[in-house]
Amino acid sequence: MNAIVKPGSDVRVEDKLYQNRYLVDAGRPHIKVAPHETPSPALLALTRVCPAKCYEQNEKGQVEITADGCMECGTCRVLCEASGEIEWNYPRGGFGVLFKFG
Ligand code: SF4
Repeated sequence: MNAIVKPGSDVRVEDKLYQNRYLVDAGRPHIKVAPHETPSPALLALTRVCPAKCYEQNEKGQVEITADGCMECGTCRVLCEASGEIEWNYPRGGFGVLFKFG
């Protein structure tokens, strides 16, 4: 069975995600990375699997997060919350991602 694709309807996921908006809760990040010297493989993986690219390695190789732009997908929570490597909470009401539907 063939899928019907209308001309001009092949919108890229990145273009759709760009339409979301994010309200920053300044000084109150909803996700924190626990202090560490060397990141575990799971923590390091967050630099590759986060769809919003919130995780990066600093010059010392440690993993840091900038939670602005987080889509609350929960991937990092599944990988690293139970081990204590990150602390994960939802943003306070009214803050965080504002999804555009449609
Ligand atoms: S919840 Fe998803 S989007 Fe947010 S920081 Fe974790 S992996 Fe990235």
